[in-house]
Amino acid sequence: MEAQLEELRRRLEEQCDVTRKLQEANQELEQQIKDKDKQLQDLQSRYDELEYRSERSSVEVPADVRKSRAPVLAPEPLADLAEIRRVKKTPSEAEQIRRAVQKNDFLSRLDEEQLNMMVELVEALDRCPGDHIIQEGTEGDSMYIVAAGELKVTQAGHDLRTLSSGDVFGELAILYNCKRTASVKAVSAVRLWSIQRQKYRTIMTNKSKRKREQLMGFLKTARTLKALNDLQISKIIDSMEEVKFDKSEVIVREGAEGNTFYIILEGEVLVTKWINNQQKTIRKMGQGEHFGELALIREVLRTATCTAVGPVTCFCIDKEVFEETIPIENLELHDDSSSSLRLKELVPVYYQEGRYQGDPVTLGVGGFGRVELVTTGNHGKYYAVKKVSKKYIVAKRQEAHMLFEKKILQLIQCDFIVKMHAAFKDSRYIYMVMEFCQGGEIWTKLKEVGRFDEPVAVFVTACVVEAFAYLHKKSIMYRDLKPENLLLDTRGYIKLVDFGFAKELTRGAKTYSFCGTPEYMAPEIIQNQGHDYAADFWSLGVLVYELLMGSPPFSSSEPQKIYSKILDGVLKYPPFMSEAARSLISKLCRPRPGQRLGNTKNGIKDVRNHRWFSMVNWHKLRLGQMEAPTIRLIRKGPCYINFDRFPHDKTQAEEELSGWDKDF
Ligand code: AMP
Repeated sequence: MEAQLEELRRRLEEQCDVTRKLQEANQELEQQIKDKDKQLQDLQSRYDELEYRSERSSVEVPADVRKSRAPVLAPEPLADLAEIRRVKKTPSEAEQIRRAVQKNDFLSRLDEEQLNMMVELVEALDRCPGDHIIQEGTEGDSMYIVAAGELKVTQAGHDLRTLSSGDVFGELAILYNCKRTASVKAVSAVRLWSIQRQKYRTIMTNKSKRKREQLMGFLKTARTLKALNDLQISKIIDSMEEVKFDKSEVIVREGAEGNTFYIILEGEVLVTKWINNQQKTIRKMGQGEHFGELALIREVLRTATCTAVGPVTCFCIDKEVFEETIPIENLELHDDSSSSLRLKELVPVYYQEGRYQGDPVTLGVGGFGRVELVTTGNHGKYYAVKKVSKKYIVAKRQEAHMLFEKKILQLIQCDFIVKMHAAFKDSRYIYMVMEFCQGGEIWTKLKEVGRFDEPVAVFVTACVVEAFAYLHKKSIMYRDLKPENLLLDTRGYIKLVDFGFAKELTRGAKTYSFCGTPEYMAPEIIQNQGHDYAADFWSLGVLVYELLMGSPPFSSSEPQKIYSKILDGVLKYPPFMSEAARSLISKLCRPRPGQRLGNTKNGIKDVRNHRWFSMVNWHKLRLGQMEAPTIRLIRKGPCYINFDRFPHDKTQAEEELSGWDKDF
């Protein structure tokens, strides 16, 4: 004992030493970064200097050499908005100003709104021949557009050029306080359009602020973003871009993969949908309305077509950019009816007949607890509540797994994976409130019919492929595929449940934990060689076999024998199994993970493209538009009719107060 303590102490000291060294190295790195920043600033100012020297013919460059760019950003009080006069222009005047602005290198970057603002704000200025408009070396506060007449630009007494109608000069002054580097003098009688920096900036700032507030308002109406605070919404706005669409242009097309979210800033958008081979108008959307929000949080195919009625301006953000801006955990992923679920509101559903009549309905008894059927008084929806004793979790050292299962289920938004609506805890249990998959377990159905015909097996497996595609893309391995974990919803679509063994894994990494269900374990797990996503593809092969055969390919009443069979890898196919099915299974159950279908160059696409799935329309499947052959497996009757029945467990778990579940 003492020796062990001594050893631990020694290791601790070693660790402290390492930490100290790392801290020192960190400080050094920080200093280096600071030095580099400074060098970068110097270089930037030298670059600026060189740049404006090379553009010496321009009228507007500060006379003294700028040491850094900081002064440009010096804050300046803005003018009072109420005092700013807008001057009406005739159409030809407006056109002249527009054209002048658009042909100017710097001003042409103004957007449409800013350009209009400029047209409204410039004031007419008449000057006589010989009048000085700009004096070299003085500070500039206005910019000018020549409306009529001729002016001369000089620098240190030398003529530089002549300005005439449509030319712009002094334009940098509307951005910041800078010294004039040349003089401008009227040669003839001239008329100028001029605008002062303070006015321009006040208007622009105000416009931007208002636009931002308006956008905040628009974004706050998006249900998915409801849980975000102003700062987070503001961050999203910073990442968004304006996009323009022409009249009749299709912005999103039904059935196409979606990864952009749009808000309409201007114009109208027509939403249409194919129904019974006809394109039907669903509705028209206008300013402030948005579409495509689901694309931000889940893999979706567009469920409708959105077309620009006239010219349309949208503000939009792509999924990738969005994900970089806001961690998905911060999003409101629940639907309306469940976002406000409270534990107290959930009431048990009772068996209405049979030997357990009057007892609460238990849907399943899993590895770590029971799943019970509940409902809510107000909207009468059903939920499946997974209830696990905290004491049991601690005894089995499953704390991390439970926390991870909850975290994953909260993140997931996939139609092929069970949704979690809420999670609760008390002193005895943790509870996960999930959508109720009314059709029951595939396991139960399989036992009822012995084995599935090919269309049913293909459909079930295709749903699992979609669930895996989603999970793997999110860097999550599932690791517990088996018919018991596949539930049917009312439409006959499959949902994956039980994420107790799921794990996050970076691409290229391996994990070494020994877990799964023996019959479904890949050989590399059994041999502790380290496993990854390929283990899920192995289990997919085992699943196809079991669905078609009624029992898994490697089975025995003794686990040890199962493992030996898996390592032997001999697959025996019954005569009724189709050649396509055999081909798929043997490609998925290749002993070497690197050769397994799904884990080779084209990834999961190779699985989807295998001829066993030739009847699957993957797009329709994802949209929920494929007819489910599984529907005939679902029985009609009380809502629990598709589940095995379990006696009520009247015992109450002991309290567990160690606090491991504080983040649950
Ligand atoms: P689990 O502990 O998650 O493996 O769940 C155990 C069993 O409870 C499953 O095999 C199902 O029979 C049932 N079950 C779990 N989740 C649900 C659900 N969302 N809807 C209906 N039944 C469920």
